[in-house]
Amino acid sequence: MKATDDIVYLKGVGPARAKVLATELGIRTAMQLLEYFPFRYIDRTTTSTIASLTAESNYVVLEGTLSNLQTVSTGRYRERLTCDLSDGTGHIQLVWFAGTKWVREKLKPGVRYMVMGKPTVFNGQWQMSHPELEVDSGERDGERGKFLPVYTTTDKMKQSGLGSRALARLTETLTGCIYDIEETLPEDVTRRFRLATRAEALRNIHYPETQAALDAARTRLKFEELFFLQLDYQYARTARQLRSRGRVFGTVGDIFNKFYSEKLPFALTGAQKRVVREVREDMRSGRQMNRLLQGDVGSGKTLVALMCMLLAVDNGSQACLMAPTEILATQHYNTFCSMLEGLDVEVELLIGSVKAGAKKKLKSRIADGTTHIVIGTHALIEDDVTFHDLGLVVIDEQHRFGVEQRSKLWSKAEPAPHVLVMTATPIPRTLAMTLYGDLDCSVIDELPPGRQPVRTYHRTEPRRPLVFSFLKQQIDAGRQAYIVYPLIHESEKTDLRDLEDGLEMVQSYFPRPQYHVSMVHGGLSAEEKAFEMDRFKRGLTHIMVATTVIEVGVDVPNATVMIIENAEHFGLSQLHQLRGRVGRGGGQSYCILMTKDQLSYSSQERIRTMCSTTDGFRIAEADLRLRGPGDIQGLQQSGVLDLKLASIVDDEPLVQATRDTVHDLLAADPGLGRYPLLQKHIEHSKNKMLWGKIS
Ligand code: ADP
Ligand code: MG
Repeated sequence: MKATDDIVYLKGVGPARAKVLATELGIRTAMQLLEYFPFRYIDRTTTSTIASLTAESNYVVLEGTLSNLQTVSTGRYRERLTCDLSDGTGHIQLVWFAGTKWVREKLKPGVRYMVMGKPTVFNGQWQMSHPELEVDSGERDGERGKFLPVYTTTDKMKQSGLGSRALARLTETLTGCIYDIEETLPEDVTRRFRLATRAEALRNIHYPETQAALDAARTRLKFEELFFLQLDYQYARTARQLRSRGRVFGTVGDIFNKFYSEKLPFALTGAQKRVVREVREDMRSGRQMNRLLQGDVGSGKTLVALMCMLLAVDNGSQACLMAPTEILATQHYNTFCSMLEGLDVEVELLIGSVKAGAKKKLKSRIADGTTHIVIGTHALIEDDVTFHDLGLVVIDEQHRFGVEQRSKLWSKAEPAPHVLVMTATPIPRTLAMTLYGDLDCSVIDELPPGRQPVRTYHRTEPRRPLVFSFLKQQIDAGRQAYIVYPLIHESEKTDLRDLEDGLEMVQSYFPRPQYHVSMVHGGLSAEEKAFEMDRFKRGLTHIMVATTVIEVGVDVPNATVMIIENAEHFGLSQLHQLRGRVGRGGGQSYCILMTKDQLSYSSQERIRTMCSTTDGFRIAEADLRLRGPGDIQGLQQSGVLDLKLASIVDDEPLVQATRDTVHDLLAADPGLGRYPLLQKHIEHSKNKMLWGKIS
């Protein structure tokens, strides 16, 4: 049988089952069935006896004879079929709730069967519902290997006689008769990593003779999966670099130098210097820069961005910085203005709340090049924002923006501007390597000197008075604090009420006129938010009660206490971001996680992680482990989720190996002229959705 043959022609399929395979699993060809992998295996050399079953028994294989077939009506169109299986050591009841007619015809009392399924105890009796069973031929030796593959199936499939065991029979037939499984990986790659051939792997993933053969098959197939994911991303990058030559920013000019020697408020950390150098190299290389800047909260990414932007301005270009919220854009704008005072640089702020008239003028200054640096929100990517000559785009706190928005900014200049993406929270290495496979990566792995790690504590409601008296000490010592409430309810109104109740409670502990408490939430206008933030920044308010609008980026070094209410409602990366709002100055800072008493397992794990480390990379990894990649923001449309076997959590060495291999391969042969197989793959995936999203 050929790989592309219609599955209907496989012995044991036929038109009816072919239709079910197509509608239920999307399997239409022989190859597609072969690529439907088992999710586990049964060791068929060990059948269990009924007497040996325990509550822990998982999927077991039993042998015995049937008796006592009964059908009981349980509703107008529903019935239950039961029968007993005995093997000389005991009895177990087999039960079916669906497809009973079809099953009943197959069951023959007195005949020996092999029965597979998960046993449970019901009314003090062993029971197995919807088991798979087949007549026990007795000749176990004739079958291949000792592992029996188990496949995920649907109810519809079971009713059409396509349970796991039936699928196993099909794959057994297929692995025996398919003869044209083509290799997809280049030979030098399979040789270098000693990978099984695709043909071997696809056979052994279904019917391995030994554990070693199974492992080799899995490794090979995982490698392949990750390899092609990397190839898609990295080829896109290479192609883009070949297509659009980057602007060459050759000079370090007056503005940069003057800033560096006169304005820089503190010495750069070694890591900051290194990153500025890396960016500089990129921007004068003649290739378009696409760089990811990772750095833990508080590591000083903003300053790095500012200096890179000055390089662009020095070379006669404009630069823009896109932030996810108006608060953040405004804060960056203020920072930039004060740091650049006295230098010949025009900085402007473009956010949604700028009045129409002013906005129009602002846009025309951006278009004619009067403005050198623009800081803004999504407003920057609107179609009517045109630049005179946009040379560098910096995107802050990337996880809020999709890849599509990134590419929208690319299109605002020709040749495409250099792009620097800064993440809000570190991303686990494997994830960064896959998800941002098209970006180069810089890391700031050093905090500015004098920072003390934030101390984190977990407290519950009964201890609130103690928490607040501690807070009082801190405020009396001249410090400031945040108290953050999560959005829990569907409706903004109820959330706001929680926040207002919270505010009232806080105010009762911290009465005026001695203490000033303010409140910031998403329902306020941009001006109101800016007003409150400004007062807090200037130290006029002591406590800021807020929703997560302050989650990312906000920088008030004098704030040293962060109290997070209902902390169990926040995800790890959010908690880490929130905690990052304190510990930004020289003073010892504190983060207090308030929760209810009873916590779910994953909430406990999150809180424990937070209390035990302040390292963003470790937190990111814990997050990935706890939630799985499916829940990580932005991953949904990334294609990473399509991985069938490989895991970006557990297969880090493979992710690394495939990334490096693809990188070297493309460096030596950017057009893949020597690799017709890979070219074919690229042609194929260009037609898929993924391509549009990454190039
Ligand atoms: P993030 O990386 O989280 O965006 P920021 O850029 O907001 O961090 O910087 C955090 C704080 O550290 C700011 O108050 C900033 O002024 C300060 N900072 C940045 N670089 C240094 C440095 N080299 N030495 C001392 N303080 C620094
Ligand atoms: Mg920041």
